[in-house]
Amino acid sequence: MPLQRVAITVTGAVQGVGFRPFVHGLATSLGLHGFVKNRSGDVFMEVEGEPIALERFEKEIVGRHPSLARIDKIRRARRIPLGLEERDFRIEASEGAPPPAPVFPPDVATCEPCLRELFDPNDRRYRYSFLSCTDCGPRLTIVTGLPYDRERTVMAPFPLCAECRTESEDPTDRRFHAQPTACPACGPRLSVLDAEGAPLTSADPIAVAIATLARGGVVCIKGLGGHHLACDAESENAVADLRRRKNRDAKPFAVMVHDITTVDALCEISFEERAVLESPARPIVLVRRRRAGRWPIADAVVPDDPLTLGIMLPYTPIHHLILREGGFRALVMTSGNRADEPIAYRDAEAVEQLRGIADCFLVHDRRIEIRCDDSVVRVIGPSGGVLHLRRSRGYAPLPIRLPTTNACPTLAAGGDLKSTFALAVADQAVLSHHLGDLEHFTGYHAYEAAIAHYERLYQIAPRRIVHDLHPDYASTRYALARARRSGVELLAVQHHHAHMASCMAEHGLSGPVIGVCFDGAGLGLDGTIWGGEFLLGGYLEASRVAHLRQVRMPGGDRAAREPWRMALAHMAAAGEDPTRSDVARRIPARHVSAVLSMLERPINAPLTSSVGRLFDSIASLVGASDRSAFEGQGAMRLEALATGMAPDNRYEFHLGPSGEEIDAAPVIRAVVEDMRSGASAAKVSRSFHSALARIVARTCGSIRDRFGVNVVVMSGGVFSNAILTSEVVERLNADGFLAHRHRTVPPNDGGISLGQVAIAAATATREC
Ligand code: ZN
Ligand code: ZN
Ligand code: FE
Repeated sequence: MPLQRVAITVTGAVQGVGFRPFVHGLATSLGLHGFVKNRSGDVFMEVEGEPIALERFEKEIVGRHPSLARIDKIRRARRIPLGLEERDFRIEASEGAPPPAPVFPPDVATCEPCLRELFDPNDRRYRYSFLSCTDCGPRLTIVTGLPYDRERTVMAPFPLCAECRTESEDPTDRRFHAQPTACPACGPRLSVLDAEGAPLTSADPIAVAIATLARGGVVCIKGLGGHHLACDAESENAVADLRRRKNRDAKPFAVMVHDITTVDALCEISFEERAVLESPARPIVLVRRRRAGRWPIADAVVPDDPLTLGIMLPYTPIHHLILREGGFRALVMTSGNRADEPIAYRDAEAVEQLRGIADCFLVHDRRIEIRCDDSVVRVIGPSGGVLHLRRSRGYAPLPIRLPTTNACPTLAAGGDLKSTFALAVADQAVLSHHLGDLEHFTGYHAYEAAIAHYERLYQIAPRRIVHDLHPDYASTRYALARARRSGVELLAVQHHHAHMASCMAEHGLSGPVIGVCFDGAGLGLDGTIWGGEFLLGGYLEASRVAHLRQVRMPGGDRAAREPWRMALAHMAAAGEDPTRSDVARRIPARHVSAVLSMLERPINAPLTSSVGRLFDSIASLVGASDRSAFEGQGAMRLEALATGMAPDNRYEFHLGPSGEEIDAAPVIRAVVEDMRSGASAAKVSRSFHSALARIVARTCGSIRDRFGVNVVVMSGGVFSNAILTSEVVERLNADGFLAHRHRTVPPNDGGISLGQVAIAAATATREC
């Protein structure tokens, strides 16, 4: 059979992820000749051989590429075979300008081959806490600059030994070009500090950590993107102790489970949940515990909703060593911080912050360049599919393709809580890792530092900054201050328009769409607080075509932390007498009358159309939550109550004659009535979810009738709710809509920056 030759260009996240060694290995194993090289952000190759081998080669490029790589496009062209002029397959020097958008891979969990070495007594990396390879190990958290090579990572102070060097220069070795590779002879080392931060020199650090955990103590463990606090998740005392020391009352702790078999024994996991747990990103996955059998996890791990557990599998060699050698089934692994501060990521800072919480500190001399929290996801709906609640370690900073190429270097400042920022780099949006709450000084400082870091990495100097319309967001103040200093252009984007645009961008939609944007709060164009909006439009423009009827928020922001206030407000708006309710019986009378007078006059009671606050009021009405320890706790409890129950048609929202205003009053009255007659909170909660899903579909139907738009995007923190999201998608699909929910970025304010940057890209018609 005559030989054939093809030229193949692979576009996507293909550089710095072991793609060339993979191509080399594949071509060699199939007896093909030719070469592969990096070219301006793509991987380019010419391959020659038998047609059957070539066909197989092209298939495997797509089917078996390195786990870190993402292929966006493959182009192929025939070439004239060179025949005997070429006798081998080579990796050639890179050519062309650097790619327009450099791709930094995220941090990746320890791979299987590395794990085998870790526990192989005959391997030279046996029990070595920093082993990694081309397929795994730290990336984002160790990079200091471009281009990505060892000199510009925190591994620079660790020159490779002869053996490691040989491996990293051998194209057939799985550590070829592995920048963070190391071994006990040349790499970083573990150490352990006592409760005061003094080094314990003689002992094996892993053994000390294990002994402390086994005693029921708390260990601070330095991870990839920051320090965790760990304790034995099976010990009621240890967990209660940690909770007390950390001063954390109700927020659930995440748990790191020994292996997938143990996960299976503890939780009911679907095929998709298993796949996400085992994926290289290794996020925290919210799963349901098994109801049958003995439950070994301490109640204090998840005090609020004992049926849901946030779990993850070990993702660094240190985790594997501790869990396996210590024989722990599950360890609590929670961010090493105090209250609402960002996760500690420098050893000195960890000791300073966590003294009095941790009994010892397991640390090392590989610096964390930038902090990065664990990601949190859940799998929802009948079809499965990931929903991100926090997109961070393992996902950030993988770029998201924008529907329009951005002509102007842009920074999107994001939201205020659960915040992220985004940079527009050519036709890509680079979404930062999770930065959390910016209200505290340290949080804001981390935010500023991360923006500077990303701008340095991507070598982008924004000439435009997009920010939320809300003047009091820390991110808005950042944008304004920077514009004053440097004269960059500013663009303010309405909160829910950004939500809508983020879901559009994620799905590559250009509009027009119906944007169903439900969340806790965002400043509306009319100066009131929005959060139950139906927008219509695209990136350039969106108008509010329907919304939840506004009610008062007695006490302003306090109403978000005290759902009973919203319960009284919604009852008053529905014509119910708030004083004749269980809520009023549970709350001191003077507080109730204070709130009622706020509603009557009205003072300090801004108007809101928020669906998040509606959830709060239902949570209080059914007795599930009068006070929230954190935003959205009421909604989480309602969802937990409703889980596993069948949908029904018991409650009905009222849609005004013009189709523009949704009134919750009939639902509120029915809920109050049901609670009076002794209905179960679970049933009421489930009926509420169904009613909300139905009114979304009905309202979208009315908008379609009026404007002829058939595509729906759903965004906002309320769509973190699996029951609501699945039911809405199902109903909309049944009604013939093309309905999209978030899959790549969070529906909550963690996704705002993507929407902002997408809107900016659409408006940047000229270079600036
Ligand atoms: Zn590896
Ligand atoms: Zn070495
Ligand atoms: Fe929001």
